[in-house]
Amino acid sequence: MNEEYQEQLQQRLYAIRERISEAARHSGRAPDEITLCAACKTRSVEEIAFSAGLAIDCFGENHAQELDRNFSANAYLGKPAHFIGHLQTNKVKKTVGRAELIQSVDSTHLLDALDNCASSRNLVQKILLEINIGNEANKSGIPAAESERLLEYASGKSSLLVCGIMTIPPVCENEAEARRYFESMRCLFEQLRRCQGSNIDLHILSMGMSADYEAAILEGSTMVRIGSAIYGPRNYTK
Ligand SMILES: *Cc1c(COP(=O)(O)O)cnc(C)c1O
Repeated sequence: MNEEYQEQLQQRLYAIRERISEAARHSGRAPDEITLCAACKTRSVEEIAFSAGLAIDCFGENHAQELDRNFSANAYLGKPAHFIGHLQTNKVKKTVGRAELIQSVDSTHLLDALDNCASSRNLVQKILLEINIGNEANKSGIPAAESERLLEYASGKSSLLVCGIMTIPPVCENEAEARRYFESMRCLFEQLRRCQGSNIDLHILSMGMSADYEAAILEGSTMVRIGSAIYGPRNYTK
C-alpha cells in the first residue's frame, strides 16, 4: 500500500463525508445521524487498518473467515465490525459476539441458530432483518410482505435484539428508480416500528451503497454501506 493510495483513500473519504452531510441536511437531519459502514470485502489487513484511522464508523464483512482474520489482526483498530453478507448456519458460531451487528438475517432457521448461540454465551446479539425489496429470485432477504411475520418470530428470541432492517435493492438504471425502492423501505420501516416487543428497537435503516447512497439518505437511510467508492474497484482474483 503506497502513499499515493493512502492519500486517495483520505480524499475519497473526505468527499464521501461531504456528500453524506449534504444529503443528511437535505433530509432534515444532522450529518452524525448517518452511520458510515465501510464494506471491506477483499481488502487487505493493511488497507483496512489504514482506513480505520479515517472517518469510518464501522466495518461490514461478508465472510466469516475475513471477519475472523481481520479481527485477529486488529485491523479495525477497535472500531465495530458488522456482518453484512449471506450467513450460513455453520458460520454462526464464528460470527455471534464478534460482529456487533448482524445485518443479514432472513429466516426463522437463522434466528433460531443465532439465538441459541447468543444464549449459550450469555450475550445479546444485535441484528437487522434483511429485506428483498425488489422480490428478486435468487437474492437473499425476505419479501416485504413476510417481514412482519419474521419480526414477530424474532420477538420470541430473548438473546437477540432487533435493531432495524437492511436491503440491497435491485440494480437500477437511474436514481429515480432506486429512490422508489428506498421509499418502499422507509414505508416498511415505519410500519414495522409499530410492532411491539421487549427485544424490538427498530432505529436502523441500512440502505445505500457506493452508487446510490445519497438517494438512500434522502429517503431516510440511517446507515450506508460503502465499499468501492472508498477503496476503489474490487479485485476478486487476489
Ligand atoms: C459489497 C457490499 C456493499 C458495498 O458495495 P459497493 O458498491 O462497493 O459500495 C454493501 N452492502 C453489501 C451487503 C455488500 O456486499
